[in-house]
Amino acid sequence: MTILVLIIYFFYSSWLQDSYALERMKMVEKQIKARGVVSESVLNAMRTVPRHEFVPPDRAKYAYNDYPLAIGYGQTISQPYIVAYMTEALNLEKEDVILEVGTGSGYQAAVLAELVKEVHTIEIIRPLGERAKVTLSALGYKNVHVYIGDGYNGIKSKAPFDAIMVTAGAEKVPPPLIEQLNEGGRMIIPVGTVNDVQYLLLIKKNKGKITRKTLLPVRFVPFTREKE
Ligand code: SAH
Repeated sequence: MTILVLIIYFFYSSWLQDSYALERMKMVEKQIKARGVVSESVLNAMRTVPRHEFVPPDRAKYAYNDYPLAIGYGQTISQPYIVAYMTEALNLEKEDVILEVGTGSGYQAAVLAELVKEVHTIEIIRPLGERAKVTLSALGYKNVHVYIGDGYNGIKSKAPFDAIMVTAGAEKVPPPLIEQLNEGGRMIIPVGTVNDVQYLLLIKKNKGKITRKTLLPVRFVPFTREKE
C-alpha cells in the first residue's frame, strides 16, 4: 500500500514539475518575448528559475500568470515581465557583482544569479529574508548572499557594484546607492510618490558622471526605512 502511494506520488510530482516547466516556456513566449524582451540570456534565465518555488504553496498554481502575487507581510513578487524587463535593462555580464535591494521572495535574485558572478541582496523584513535564504539554498544557488537590513545604505563592505536593482518604490534615489555604483555601473530603480505610480529610472555612472533615463511607469510596494 505504502509503495503504491509512493509510486503515485512520484508520478504526480514529476508530472507537476513538467507542467510547471511547460507553463514557464509559455510565460516567456506570451508575456515576455511578445512584449519585446530580446536578450537570450535573460529569456533563458526566465525559462530556468522555478518561480512556483518562490510563492506560498497555495499560490504555486498562479505563479506563471501575468501578474504580481502576494508573498506575505504585505509584499509582492513582481509580474514576470517586469522581472525580465528590469533584468534586461541592466545589461549584465557574467563577471558582474551586483546588489539587489528588496529580496522579497528571492525570485528576482535567482534570476540575476543565473546571469552574473555574485548577487548580494538585502531585505528589510526579517522573516521574508530568512525564507528567501532557505528557498535559494534549497534550489542550490551558491552565488546569492541574503542580508537582513535597510538597503538604503547599500552594502558598503561589498561595494562597488557593477549593477544595482531596487525592487521597492522609492521617493528619491538613495545617494549611497549611487555612491556604491562601479565605474560603468548601471542601476534600475522605481521612483515616484508612495502608493502611486512610479517610473523605472535607469541610472548610469560613466567617468564619474551620472546619467538618468526614464523607462516604464510601474507600481511597486513602498521602499521603507528602518527607524534611525
Ligand atoms: N524582488 C522581490 C520583490 C520584492 S517586493 C522578489 O523577487 O520577490 C519589495 C521588497 O522590498 C519587499 O519585500 C520589501 O520588504 C523590501 N523593502 C522595502 N524597503 C526596503 C529597504 N529599505 N531595504 C531592504 N528591503 C526593502
